[in-house]
Amino acid sequence: MILSDKNEVFSECKRCGKPIKYGNGYVTILKNIEQAEIEANRDITQVIYSEDIYTLCGRCGNLFDFETLKKLIESIPLLQPLC
Ligand SMILES: [Zn+2]
Repeated sequence: MILSDKNEVFSECKRCGKPIKYGNGYVTILKNIEQAEIEANRDITQVIYSEDIYTLCGRCGNLFDFETLKKLIESIPLLQPLC
């Protein structure tokens, strides 16, 4: 078991700038590339790649309007292939 210093800062809120320390609740919006499989009748999802897109402190995360984010994402067109 790894114990961390509760006062140690590991990130900061991209909205208000508040330091985020170990032990604090926070919200992240991630870009995950995943692969789902079935093994022994169980769904297993392997995360192949993960990138932190946006990190919010607990307060900003609770106040963040995720419904608007969903609508915005649905309105973004896909990129065209380069060839
Ligand atoms: Zn914040």
